[in-house]
Amino acid sequence: MQKDDCLFCKIAKGDIPSKKVYEDEEVIAFKDINPAAPVHLLIIPKQHYDSLAVMGKNEEPLLGKMLALAPVLAKEAGANNGFRVVINTGHDGGQEVNHIHIHVLGGPRPWTKL
Ligand code: 5GP
Ligand code: ZN
Repeated sequence: MQKDDCLFCKIAKGDIPSKKVYEDEEVIAFKDINPAAPVHLLIIPKQHYDSLAVMGKNEEPLLGKMLALAPVLAKEAGANNGFRVVINTGHDGGQEVNHIHIHVLGGPRPWTKL
């Protein structure tokens, strides 16, 4: 279930290139194009969901899997001294790409606080 006009659906399909760091049948993770920290990854489901706000009980396994990937990918990317996960949700949450994504930010300070 993908949305034709969605940037992250296109990245998930490979129609738009990205620096992928992880992929399985449900999820991909790639480097943010405009990193706010030395390590800045985005973890997304391949299936389109506008935001966290539309996800519920049925998506618990998917969300759990995405969240559990954060420490694994942070470590692989070299964020060995801590990291931050952020899910901007909706207009007032500062979400700019309307396909749910988990930001994983880390690496040596200083870096921008989101
Ligand atoms: P949001 O503000 O929606 O939480 O975050 C969207 C993120 O997607 C931003 O950090 C932005 O830099 C990143 N982004 C936007 N367009 C692209 C793109 O084409 N490729 C990649 N890799 N990241 C993108
Ligand atoms: Zn999408």
